[in-house]
Amino acid sequence: GEIASMMDVPVTQVISACMTLGIIAAINQRLDAETLTLICEEFGYKVEFVDAEETETVLEEEDNPDNLQPRSPIVTVMGHVDHGKTSLLDYIRSANVIAGEAGGITQHIGAYKVQLAHNEKEITFLDTPGHEAFTAMRARGAKVTDVAIIVVAADDAVMPQTKEAINHAQAAEVPMIFAINKIDKPGANPDKVREELAQMNILVEDWGGKFQCQEISAKQGTGIEELLDKVLLEAELLELKADPDKRAAGSVIESSLDKGKGYVVTMLVESGSMKVGDFILAGSQYGRIKAMHNERGQEVSVAGPSDPVSVLGLNGSVNAGDRFHIVEDEREAKQIAAKRQQLQREQGIRAQKHVTLDEIGRRLALGDFKELNLIVKGDVDGSIEALSDALLKLSNENIQVNIIHKAVGPISDSDVLLASASDAIIVGFQVRPNASAKKLAEKEEIEIRMYSIIYDAIAEIKDAMEGMLSPDI
Ligand code: GDP
Repeated sequence: GEIASMMDVPVTQVISACMTLGIIAAINQRLDAETLTLICEEFGYKVEFVDAEETETVLEEEDNPDNLQPRSPIVTVMGHVDHGKTSLLDYIRSANVIAGEAGGITQHIGAYKVQLAHNEKEITFLDTPGHEAFTAMRARGAKVTDVAIIVVAADDAVMPQTKEAINHAQAAEVPMIFAINKIDKPGANPDKVREELAQMNILVEDWGGKFQCQEISAKQGTGIEELLDKVLLEAELLELKADPDKRAAGSVIESSLDKGKGYVVTMLVESGSMKVGDFILAGSQYGRIKAMHNERGQEVSVAGPSDPVSVLGLNGSVNAGDRFHIVEDEREAKQIAAKRQQLQREQGIRAQKHVTLDEIGRRLALGDFKELNLIVKGDVDGSIEALSDALLKLSNENIQVNIIHKAVGPISDSDVLLASASDAIIVGFQVRPNASAKKLAEKEEIEIRMYSIIYDAIAEIKDAMEGMLSPDI
């Protein structure tokens, strides 16, 4: 109805145009972006979208190039279970001064910033280790990690979750540093870890490759200073800078409801600064900052780039990975929050629609599709390799096929999150999703294609890719 009146055509014509696309639409139905584009083209109109994300770019103040200052790196620790992620984070926290103040009780707020005891440089760590948390945030649009430390235990080996962590970091294009842990243990064999990484095409520095690597003991503290120096070196190469003088923007790390205090939300500032009294918009909630605390429970009056702070004052619950912005006035914050809540009610939580095989053709026609990301899960290594190789070979000058993750085993939650964060399709060969992954895939609208014959998988994806080529040929 709305679009018909904007184009000044009878609504019945719009409805019948929808029908030719196979959509039975009611007069008050919301149409997705692609359908709108196609429909309006039929009537000779071009569509430009101004939506919630658009308001966000308006919200984000531009950097003033003269004000850009170096900012400290934000680091996530990932790796297989029991390889020592938590031990490493605990050691770093206890061996270095928490930025700002010394002493006090350490509370878990989801992130902490330390000032290194040996050189006074600062690093911010996300305190929820693991690639699941990392990718879940990324699926919501937050890219809060500059460098990933991948922990591998030297008395074990490169394990399935090590590979997952590597693939998740690579899909996010986050540089990795390898920490070979537990070298204090009698059975430790760090070279075995290097060897196994090399087999995955990851050549560490001491073997002539490009990946920095450090042998450590998270228990005894061996090598950790060196590891952190390598993090700083990697960060230097990234030339991380932010403008501390503008209004703050960043991501939500954690959120909880405290009976006495209200919503307690840990936020990580990416750029700009925020202070007590500022109006803040986060996800679809707003509020005025009543107080901010650091990891030691101490009050903070101003937070700047790479600072994690626990914020009091939001009027509702938000999710990890939601963006936040400091806004000029309360009215503006209130309006945008209300608009976002309305959009959420109408469209469900998912704002972004993910790719499916069937719609590749349409997306290519709209000119926004150049890469097809796939996750390949299968029952045995041999078939996964064969299938992945064949799929990679389907790449042509217009579309590149990327296998962002491949592994033996059922399709898991972590696969679905990765697909959501990287806009990928999951291909299962002789495997199915487990129950919770299936549910999550429905919620996130991720396509899972299951095959029992390799040829079928290749043929179907090839067809879809050719479908995506046909409009221009
Ligand atoms: P996570 O699951 O990756 O977070 O692993 P944890 O940090 O919980 O460590 C798993 C187990 O390995 C714990 O019992 C730790 O005490 C032990 N551990 C971690 N790092 C080291 C290390 O450097 N040396 C030794 N000997 N044990 C370690």
